Amino acid sequence: MPELTRSIKIVWLHAVGCTGCSISTFNSTYPHAPQILLEEILPGIRVEILFHSTLMKAHGSRALKPVREAAAGRFPFLLVVEGAIPVGPQSYLGGIGGGKDLPSLVEDLARHCTATVALGTCAAYGGLAAARPNPGQCRGVWDFLESRGLEAAVINLPGCPPHPDWVIGTLAAVAAGRFDVTRDLDDELRPVMYYGTLVHQWCPRRASFDEGKFAKKLGDPGCLYELGCKGSITYGDCPQRHWNNRVSWCIGVGAPCSGCTQPEFPDWLGGFQEKITDVQLPTIGEYWQQRRERGR
Ligand code: SF4
Ligand code: SF4
Repeated sequence: MPELTRSIKIVWLHAVGCTGCSISTFNSTYPHAPQILLEEILPGIRVEILFHSTLMKAHGSRALKPVREAAAGRFPFLLVVEGAIPVGPQSYLGGIGGGKDLPSLVEDLARHCTATVALGTCAAYGGLAAARPNPGQCRGVWDFLESRGLEAAVINLPGCPPHPDWVIGTLAAVAAGRFDVTRDLDDELRPVMYYGTLVHQWCPRRASFDEGKFAKKLGDPGCLYELGCKGSITYGDCPQRHWNNRVSWCIGVGAPCSGCTQPEFPDWLGGFQEKITDVQLPTIGEYWQQRRERGR
């Protein structure tokens, strides 16, 4: 009998992070968590998570066996890394099972996996884990692998946390053989199907931005630019997709976009409610400015 269901093996490591990306992923509602873990993610395809320190039941040598086998290249698998890679003197603290330090384990696994998914902004670019003063000398996965001379296929799924659809949709596309890392990623290695447009582009407050009508305090109507919104320089489909089972999203509840999917997050974007000033925003207030100049 031919095998009817293909299984995609995943080794999911936790580096320096808060596990919020796992929580967000398994808050998925369509498909929901039990479907992702136990059923087919697409017709004929299921994911098999071999190692995930907060989800698995196994412990000790039984839990570590698939990690060791994967690191030895015994079977094809996807590597998911959640959190940044600590390369400072205390990197051994992130080791798993008393064996190799975390950076060496990630390197071994990345050498043998089909692709590495850097889950969340910490894994993708360092994120909060690498924020100043960065005592653990944390780095994003791609940056770390490059420093070790590895040209691995890395897919970044940034976000603090990433939307569950971004994670499940990308894993499903990879599992189905429909994802091409040379075609489907932007310059920051993010899937263009989810990160292809600026938040600003589809923001429902965009008309206020173009008319120069800005909120002066939280709760006011109008564009949140003056209150620190980073949507004009941040890529993600949040305005169309919405979060929490499509109930709402950051700007939808009156909070400025903090730029959580960007490599510059958080250190280089300023405070969450600090206005960005060093970017060119050509249409800002243009309409009203022209009217004022015309004296009408
Ligand atoms: S600056 Fe922010 S609130 Fe204003 S239109 Fe752009 S994304 Fe929306
Ligand atoms: S709106 Fe901005 S801060 Fe909120 S999730 Fe989307 S990219 Fe992140």
